[in-house]
Amino acid sequence: MASVVSSLNSFPERMPRVAGMLGALISESQFDFWAREFGSITAWRRVFARVQSLRMEGAETLSIALRPNRNFQSAEPGQHVNVSVEIDGRLCTRSYSLSRPAEGGCVSISVRREPGGLVSNHIHDHLRVGDVLELSQPYGELAEGLAGASAQVFLAAGSGITAIYNLIAEQARRGDALRGELWYWEKQVERFCFTEELDALCQTHPQFSVRRFCNAGDSSSLYSTGRLSPEVAAPLCERYPNASVFACG
Ligand SMILES: Cc1cc2nc3c(=O)[nH]c(=O)nc-3n(C[C@H](O)[C@H](O)[C@H](O)COP(=O)(O)OP(=O)(O)OC[C@H]3O[C@@H](n4cnc5c(N)ncnc54)[C@H](O)[C@@H]3O)c2cc1C
Repeated sequence: MASVVSSLNSFPERMPRVAGMLGALISESQFDFWAREFGSITAWRRVFARVQSLRMEGAETLSIALRPNRNFQSAEPGQHVNVSVEIDGRLCTRSYSLSRPAEGGCVSISVRREPGGLVSNHIHDHLRVGDVLELSQPYGELAEGLAGASAQVFLAAGSGITAIYNLIAEQARRGDALRGELWYWEKQVERFCFTEELDALCQTHPQFSVRRFCNAGDSSSLYSTGRLSPEVAAPLCERYPNASVFACG
């Protein structure tokens, strides 16, 4: 058994030659099935990813660090993946943005509980470290216009912070200087995500700042109020007349 699993795990390196030989003996779906039966996330072409760690971000968002198999292509900042999870024998698929920056071969998604939602609640209530999810390849072009912008303005509302945080944090991880502002709306103070990380980025990137908006639950001066409107956005437009603007909500 151990040797079968270890040869499955080294399959990708020897893929072209072995795939040719195996193709005559076993179909792609049979190969994927048996790999999973032996506890491996190796697959012919599909992307399976093992849950490496789980952590709450604020009150309602669960970040999941996933180690995908070698079929997963590298992601651009701000991209998302389709995540498939089996619930009561049915494969259910939802899109989730990449969130925390990639690290040690892992990518992260952050799933907010949606009241009455099937997949988000299943993930919050049942997903454990070691479980396996199926992913699509990463896709999306949110980062278009990121490189070379004189300044960057980010607008995030609710779970839209996941993709926006990824855009910001991936740039910092790559050593790029951040210049601009993030404006971030939540309905309740407890829902804010990545607070420490964003505040730390403001410290290390003096030309970057975060303004948080919340209309309920807190009267402190830490939070601005009001929805996005031409009046609210006017000072931002004056400060950064030529900025690239990225919005997700
Ligand atoms: C590009 C993209 C990126 C995304 N990134 C993120 C992310 O980073 N983080 C994140 O948390 N989410 C993200 N989402 C949203 C995510 O894909 C899911 O939509 C979300 O998690 C809800 O899925 P669910 O299965 O829990 O809810 P669903 O079961 O799909 O339900 C959604 C809503 O519809 C209601 N509903 C369900 N069935 C019915 C019915 N029959 N009649 C009336 N109402 C009904 C539910 O109560 C719920 O409020 C993203 C979406 C897209 C398109």
